[in-house]
Amino acid sequence: MSKRAFNFCAGPAALPTAVLERAQAEMLDWQGKGLSVMEMSHRSDEYVAIAEKAEQDLRDLLAIPSDYKVLFLQGGASQQFAEIPLNLLPEDGVADYIDTGIWSKKAIEEAQRFGSVNVAASAKGYDYFAIPGQNEWQLSKNAAYLHYASNETIGGLQFDWVPDAGDTPLVVDMSSDILSRPIDVSQYGLIYAGAQKNIGPSGLVVAIVREDLLGRARSSCPTMLNYKVAADNGSMYNTPATYSWYLSGLVFEWLKEQGGVEAIAKVNRAKKDLLYKAIDASDFYTNPIAHNARSWMNVPFRLADDKLDKPFLAGAEARGLLNLKGHRSVGGMRASIYNAVGLDAVEALVAYMAEFEKEHA
Ligand code: PMP
Repeated sequence: MSKRAFNFCAGPAALPTAVLERAQAEMLDWQGKGLSVMEMSHRSDEYVAIAEKAEQDLRDLLAIPSDYKVLFLQGGASQQFAEIPLNLLPEDGVADYIDTGIWSKKAIEEAQRFGSVNVAASAKGYDYFAIPGQNEWQLSKNAAYLHYASNETIGGLQFDWVPDAGDTPLVVDMSSDILSRPIDVSQYGLIYAGAQKNIGPSGLVVAIVREDLLGRARSSCPTMLNYKVAADNGSMYNTPATYSWYLSGLVFEWLKEQGGVEAIAKVNRAKKDLLYKAIDASDFYTNPIAHNARSWMNVPFRLADDKLDKPFLAGAEARGLLNLKGHRSVGGMRASIYNAVGLDAVEALVAYMAEFEKEHA
């Protein structure tokens, strides 16, 4: 097999090599049927079995209660920013949002197109380096829902707690930390996540919706954006992203083989501990995020001198450490260390960082 680099891309992100090998082996002839999954009707018995298995494995991994629907949708997490108010915010209602960075701000801006939005708290007062505690939030009395992003992929700011929304449905963008550590699904009304980090390839967004939230869409809500339509049709009102769904199913199987979410969380903890420890131990690298809000999945860091960014990235690439450049809006570096990025990748990165510091500090 050709050599696989260590890929620290924020998304589309690294996929487990074993999953890609399995897909490769099944590419031309899926289980003796003589055709590729990409060439199957989504209504065929074979494909429906693939789709149902993927859903069941995800249900097992997250212990999703039976009164939740799992939807395999398109349009990415960005489309959810509109889909959520169209389904859950009455025209005369108000929705509460927490601003912790670029993605939650995008969700806020999109929701504002559809109704009244109360930004109940913002991390702006902390330069987006910390999350305001719930005692600082100004929640509405009768919000249709409370929305937050559990992990800000660009800023590297992550909740290590779950907001207490009382009876208000809690809606969470888990695009970049779903399946990275255990969650209690019953605390949420709606969980959504773009696939291209911890789930599978892009083209798919998974929504986990409590059943009582279905059927509340505005009459103007496009059919394709209506959660109830998707739920009633097994996410096959139209042709779904069949190959992305299949590949996500292979990732779920792989994750089960790793021991599930609890087991991968241990690896994820070891990975982020190693990387933050290396950053904190040096005067050359910095990460400004409050320790209790540091992301397990996306670790931004800066070098002592921005002029060294280019040589750092070039040296990394020469060692097979790819996609470490930070998001254009924040600069510096960012290592995304999702489930498919092993401890060996982080060890290789930390070793390179030490070597680079020795040469340039
Ligand atoms: N939310 C978060 C937290 C993200 O990281 C991203 C993408 N990186 C999005 C939303 C948007 O996802 P998509 O590109 O699938 O629309």
